[in-house]
Amino acid sequence: MRIDKVLSNSGFGSRKEVKKLLKSKFVTVNGNITTDGKVHVDPAVDEIQVKGKKIEYKEFVYLMMNKPPGVISATEDEREKTVIDLLPVKYIKFRPFPVGRLDKNTVGLLLLTNDGPLTHRVLSPKKHVEKTYFAIVDGFVTEEDRICFEKGIQLDDGYVTKPATLTIKSREKHRSEIELTITEGKFHQVKRMFEAVNKKVVYLKRISMGTLILDENLKEGEFRELTEGEILQLK
Ligand code: URA
Repeated sequence: MRIDKVLSNSGFGSRKEVKKLLKSKFVTVNGNITTDGKVHVDPAVDEIQVKGKKIEYKEFVYLMMNKPPGVISATEDEREKTVIDLLPVKYIKFRPFPVGRLDKNTVGLLLLTNDGPLTHRVLSPKKHVEKTYFAIVDGFVTEEDRICFEKGIQLDDGYVTKPATLTIKSREKHRSEIELTITEGKFHQVKRMFEAVNKKVVYLKRISMGTLILDENLKEGEFRELTEGEILQLK
């Protein structure tokens, strides 16, 4: 990879800023001053230093966000605020994208990365990655609902969902708190599953996706990098 790309991926600014850095003779590759941005390096093998300090090169970024309500899970939009707008430039330059979508008013776990193959694996229907949601439902969720979801329920468009696990956490006459684990990601799936049993989801939060569990320390709108362990478990 070109040294200018490595440097700009490592947080040393735009291509223009990196060019200036190189021209100022602040960059060495294996001890030799390098001023040409076109020089090819292997960040895994070559020792690259900027102003005498070794750089830690990363190709990919992995972020866990507690998505707040009111922002959309897209990379850009003309009118709406996106989850990418919540990130500082140091992460945006990696060009991360959300792994799967949450509705505008859904909150909770959202993985953001620029690792395409990992995204593909997590989203592949063949992998049946479990996604668990906490929801507040307007209505009294019943044992029959649980059985319907376990067997598979027909949505408004005729699609029959794969078996899903419904756990009733608490319920009153007009309000139930539940957890639902599904292995697919159909459009508005959780809301439509409850609509199929004549109930309305009034609050929806994703709490886990495969091995990844939402960090309870993250407030809505906050994010953090995944740990090495979390990344390895996803791979
Ligand atoms: N199911 C929904 O209905 N909405 C989401 O955002 C995620 C799953």
